Amino acid sequence: MLKLSGVETFYGASQALFGIEFSIAKGEVVTLLGRNGMGKTTTINSIMGIVPPSAGSIEFMGVDVTHLPSFKTANLGIGLVPEGRQIFPNLTVKENLVATASNHQKSADPWSLEKIYEMFPELAARSSSMGNLLSGGEQQMLAVGRALMTNPQLLILDEATEGLAPLVREKIWQSIGQIRDSGLSILVVDKNVADLIKLADRHVIIEKGKVAWIGSSSELKDQEELQHRYLGV
Ligand code: ATP
Repeated sequence: MLKLSGVETFYGASQALFGIEFSIAKGEVVTLLGRNGMGKTTTINSIMGIVPPSAGSIEFMGVDVTHLPSFKTANLGIGLVPEGRQIFPNLTVKENLVATASNHQKSADPWSLEKIYEMFPELAARSSSMGNLLSGGEQQMLAVGRALMTNPQLLILDEATEGLAPLVREKIWQSIGQIRDSGLSILVVDKNVADLIKLADRHVIIEKGKVAWIGSSSELKDQEELQHRYLGV
């Protein structure tokens, strides 16, 4: 479904990614792990064309998206839940959900307001509230709901539980588990390795802009040394 080969990305003269390679199969949940500043967000920004790569290639559903503008890559079926949520503060919850809703891939069973409200009853209760009046957890649910309303085939979540209270974090993971069970492919960046081991199929550890390790949840779980070395756990 998604394949990165030899991706190199720069910010001006400063190189952040040095040949990133990994892939995601249909229905698979893959994580990007690594300490702060190792290149996880840059990898996501490269996939989405926010910071386009200078070398290498990115293929999504058989289409070369390496140099596509972000909106075209999104229209091919990638839904991004960005770091910091970035919901529209001056729109209501409902307006946030419908503003960018689409079904470019003609899903036969598309996400609707009703389905999002069923998954996140907290949002239903706050349907007419302005985005900037929501709690951090509600904002995160809204960011996930907004991405789902574009009916993606791949959902990318960048630090979806950052700064949230443990109970709210648990609720977000439960919802992401439900989304996984519906068959969507997911790429997730987060720092809660224990939660990710439960949720994901495979893990890609990034160290200084390079892939340092790729393996399954059971492999990662058993390798304390690896977790300590690359993730500081
Ligand atoms: P974090 O968990 O802290 O977000 P990360 O693994 O997502 O970390 P990136 O944000 O991708 O890391 O950063 C990778 C490298 O690129 C770092 O050295 C960072 O300083 C650099 N970098 C990130 N954004 C920019 C930018 N806008 N301009 C210049 N350098 C940047």
